[in-house]
Amino acid sequence: MEFNIIFWFCFYLLFFVLSVYLGKKKGNLIAGILLGYVLGPIGALLMYFSKDRRHVTCPSCQQLIEKNAYICPHCRSKVGIKVLHS
Ligand SMILES: [Zn+2]
Repeated sequence: MEFNIIFWFCFYLLFFVLSVYLGKKKGNLIAGILLGYVLGPIGALLMYFSKDRRHVTCPSCQQLIEKNAYICPHCRSKVGIKVLHS
């Protein structure tokens, strides 16, 4: 019985950490903490599919790049102007 509680606690904690990590990575840390804390595994899953606020896709090579990047590190094309259109 005691083993079960520890197992589920670790299981829950794992997804909580995962959710926080994903939130941090996507520039949405608070949402990651809240979702992971309230929903556990489902929250982590939602966080995984949530919109990435820190990265954008390069219009030339379709690679994920930093939102504030001026020049794409993959194809060296200028992407800074893109901000005006979005
Ligand atoms: Zn590129």
